[in-house]
Amino acid sequence: MSSLAPPPVQRPQPAPAQQGFSFSLRLGSVFGIPIYVHWTFWILILWIALSGLLSGEPSSVVIGQIGFVLALFGCVVLHELGHALAALRYGVKTSDITLLPIGGVARLRKIPERPWEEFVVALAGPAVNVLIAAILYLIGARINVDVSDERLLLKGGFLDRLFLVNISLVLFNLLPAFPMDGGRVLRSLLAMTMDYGRATEIAARIGQLMAILFVFIGLQSNPFLILIALFVWIGANNEAAVVGERLALRGVRVRDAMMTDFVTLSPDDTLGHAAEILLAGSQQDFPVADRGDFTGVLTRAALLAGLASGGREARVGDHQIPDVPTVAADSPLVSAVTILRENGLPCLRVVEGGRTVGLLTAENISEYMMIRSALIQADRLSERSA
Ligand SMILES: [Zn+2]
Repeated sequence: MSSLAPPPVQRPQPAPAQQGFSFSLRLGSVFGIPIYVHWTFWILILWIALSGLLSGEPSSVVIGQIGFVLALFGCVVLHELGHALAALRYGVKTSDITLLPIGGVARLRKIPERPWEEFVVALAGPAVNVLIAAILYLIGARINVDVSDERLLLKGGFLDRLFLVNISLVLFNLLPAFPMDGGRVLRSLLAMTMDYGRATEIAARIGQLMAILFVFIGLQSNPFLILIALFVWIGANNEAAVVGERLALRGVRVRDAMMTDFVTLSPDDTLGHAAEILLAGSQQDFPVADRGDFTGVLTRAALLAGLASGGREARVGDHQIPDVPTVAADSPLVSAVTILRENGLPCLRVVEGGRTVGLLTAENISEYMMIRSALIQADRLSERSA
């Protein structure tokens, strides 16, 4: 599996730039890529240990089982490194690799734009498992268990089981559904003959059909499939959203999406006055200016915190956020979205010739996106009826 960072238009979190998933333990780094283990992974290990010991297994068997799971996840890390190194060939860096109980996630900074590159990057992961399986085969590993046996992973030799697991990883990851590699392979193949956005849409829909299929099969056999179905469903939605945003923001300038009609506060205004304006309109973040000189922004969160601590009479100037980054009105909206997300603030100041000409907030951008996608839909309809 591999995935993009969350969609850019989500309201940025006030926390500092986050590394990996939350509550993940850093194991180390390979080729400069940090590798994290998500906390739920330890629950998996604990569960194996407890269920083994409670069912009266000797501790040597339990240690063997844990060793096997660790070897399995070692193969998953190598799989993710396969993606990361292939991406690096095309100049795309990987933010981190995180291990979850359902597998690994390599967060590429972006998906390579050319379909052929995405095809190679998506296949590089499963290719690593093919390689591992081939090596295990050469040193004598074979599938000599009954594949329909539910406890097959607990039987047979260590290398035989590892061999089987690598083959399963290849087959599972090549299922044509996001966030599995097969979904990306499918999208890249489609994108060779059609528009990228359309290819993503079709690949996402096929993934969701598979998710529904997983639920039905899961209800009758393995409930674990229902969990996978959930991830596939979310993965398909995420992918469609990320690509939709990127395409919709292409060629758009900050000035097209910025807010120009807004109320500016003075540092000497009271928070009570700001609260009245907040209630009266739809503006949530207020630029603060002292006789025309910009001094900061009073965000809704800062206003509420200020009211709670200082009451209605507290000064705006004492609760504003002073260092709000600026963007030029003519800069691409995509890069402003990145700045918004990285600094964890809800808004940016838009400047032109040294003057504040607008405010860019996460809400602006999502509203802009909604309007734009509605217009694109209208275009499509009129194309069809023409
Ligand atoms: Zn993968």
